[in-house]
Amino acid sequence: IIQVQGLTKTFPNGVRALDGVSLKIHRGEVVVLVGPSGSGKSTFLRCLNGLESADSGTIVVDGIPLDDNPRNRRAIRTEAGMVFQQFNLFPHMTAGRNIDLAQIRVRGTSPREARQTTLELLKKVGLADRVEAYPSQLSGGQQQRVAIARALALRPRVMLFDEATSALDPEMIGEVLDVMRDLAREGMTMVVVTHEMGFAREVGSRAVFIDEGRFVEIAPAQDLFDAPREPRTRAFLSKVL
Ligand code: ATP
Ligand code: MG
Repeated sequence: IIQVQGLTKTFPNGVRALDGVSLKIHRGEVVVLVGPSGSGKSTFLRCLNGLESADSGTIVVDGIPLDDNPRNRRAIRTEAGMVFQQFNLFPHMTAGRNIDLAQIRVRGTSPREARQTTLELLKKVGLADRVEAYPSQLSGGQQQRVAIARALALRPRVMLFDEATSALDPEMIGEVLDVMRDLAREGMTMVVVTHEMGFAREVGSRAVFIDEGRFVEIAPAQDLFDAPREPRTRAFLSKVL
């Protein structure tokens, strides 16, 4: 469902964040991306949904090439839902309204229809009773679950997670990982950047180890964590496991 070929990204300051990476992601796969800080994980995700444009290489998402055509870029932005470390909910709007608005603005859904979907999604993430709560009245874990529901409201074909649990207190990490695990079980195609190695090994179908903008090792997730082949992967895992 995603094809990336020879992707390179150099920032104006000369930092080469991605150095010719290629990856094919199949429908229903959960690809976990692990690697040291500054290795290019966020840049890769941001390129995938067009938030960042690459210098060279090609990206095709669900048959749509990510090129200069604004229509294609918009289509991919809607196809690929993204969840960040910071939840970015509108603080002056209730949880329900945050999720309604995404649908109304991006999909042109009617407010009544949007609310129906919002209620279903809040139920799915275990927050059916918090539709009228403002972000400040929710815990970090709850806010992140609202943010996931908001991304799902656009009916994406692919979900991209960039350290979705890194800003959370330890006791709230589990509830967010549970929602992500459910999504994976339902067959959602996912690309997940995470420091939760246990989760990555368990839920990932494949794992990618990235270092200095290159995909050093790509393997079935359990193999990569249990028996890494590349010395650099081994060195990294021995530090974080
Ligand atoms: P972390 O685990 O800390 O989130 P990361 O793997 O997500 O790291 P990126 O954010 O993709 O790493 O950054 C890759 C490299 O590109 C780093 O050297 C970073 O400093 C640089 N970089 C990222 N964004 C920019 C930017 N907007 N301008 C200049 N350099 C950038
Ligand atoms: Mg990052």
